Amino acid sequence: MTPERTTALKGVLEHGVGAAVIVQTGSSGGRSGLTACFADLGVNNGPVVSIFPTGLHRHRVTLGFGRFARQCIDQMRHAPAERMTVARALLRRAAAVGHCTISPSQDLETWAVTSSEFAVEIIVPNVREPAAEEAIIQTAEMVMVPLMATLAELIGYDDAETEAVEFDIEGRVTEVMVTRRERSPRNRLLCLSIHGHQCVVCEVRPEILYGEAGSIIEVHHLEPMSNLVTPRTYDPATDLVPLCPNCHRAVHTRRPVPWTIEELKELRRIADARIL
Ligand SMILES: [Zn+2]
Ligand SMILES: [Zn+2]
Repeated sequence: MTPERTTALKGVLEHGVGAAVIVQTGSSGGRSGLTACFADLGVNNGPVVSIFPTGLHRHRVTLGFGRFARQCIDQMRHAPAERMTVARALLRRAAAVGHCTISPSQDLETWAVTSSEFAVEIIVPNVREPAAEEAIIQTAEMVMVPLMATLAELIGYDDAETEAVEFDIEGRVTEVMVTRRERSPRNRLLCLSIHGHQCVVCEVRPEILYGEAGSIIEVHHLEPMSNLVTPRTYDPATDLVPLCPNCHRAVHTRRPVPWTIEELKELRRIADARIL
């Protein structure tokens, strides 16, 4: 794999995962592939994710832990419930690409990292030319990115400062939490992989409008501070939607409770009717 491609992939990974990573090319059974780990943990003190061609038309993506990863695993075991929810949603995205096995024997809905024995294997079928760089990069983007994001969420990269105020029960604080959810690179990754890169209000696709400069779609949290009395469990799959920057600004012009998606669509219809 060329250094340019490895660098490009590192960029894609870091953007989706929200942490610094190291990407290395390597070989296994005489076939070349890719290995990635978190920059601050290296291959020994944390998780390692690899992609290698296997069989005739498959990729094998694996996650395992380094020899000295105990401290990192302890940190993951004590991840808050919300992070666990996000992590499981991210792993479901990675697993959807192929056949996923979590060991020691666990399932996608309830898994938890309990020891360094924890391992994930995802077999990606129907890869036309598994040894081709393009194919490996594609699998890296579809599987390695959400898998690394799963781990980053549990380890708790980013936002140490907002985490601390989450428990202070006041409207303003909920706003901080909403902001954190909207800005989290992992929540963004989840939201866009579920809903696509299209604004749910005006249906604009910035990447089509602006080409290379079009990665400006934003993530909006649907149920902020409206339900403090009976808070329900946060579900990143349904509570986050993509909005273009204009619609996102418009939604938040009403405070403290933003316009709903339907309300904003209705406002647009009324405005449109006025123009015609
Ligand atoms: Zn829009
Ligand atoms: Zn928002």
